[in-house]
Amino acid sequence: MYDLYDFPLYRPPSEAYSLIIQITLGCSHNRCSFCSMYKDKKFVIKPVEEIKKEIDAFRTIYKNRPVDKIFLADGDALVVPTKILAEILDYIKIVFPECKRVSVYGTAIAIHQKSVDELKLLYEKGLTLVYLGVESGDDDALKFIKKV
Ligand code: SF4
Repeated sequence: MYDLYDFPLYRPPSEAYSLIIQITLGCSHNRCSFCSMYKDKKFVIKPVEEIKKEIDAFRTIYKNRPVDKIFLADGDALVVPTKILAEILDYIKIVFPECKRVSVYGTAIAIHQKSVDELKLLYEKGLTLVYLGVESGDDDALKFIKKV
């Protein structure tokens, strides 16, 4: 199973028992001054056919175990174009019909890049939780830590 991962791999503490599927590598922003998580990774959105093959491989590994929750990694995977995210979510529904929750890390920038209709579509397709790191509401502080 570990062959299916490109390390380092991070997830929120509440996803400890979730199946993690990497649909991106690294973080599209990767500039926050306090964060070293993906400093050694070049950001890339993985090809959708590769992701589907990995989903199939995970199903083989979890053939006798239900998967309740799936977390889409790496950092800021919400930045993936909506059409591709929708295709991945549809495929997850086919391969893991028992999955009750799909979640993802997302920056405020990635959320704002999507229209309300796009976010609604993703929600309807099963993406029901976005983890958003809100370090500050102060513009100067956000600039200082290079969050924006
Ligand atoms: S957006 Fe998140 S993952 Fe990316 S550099 Fe900032 S804190 Fe790290």
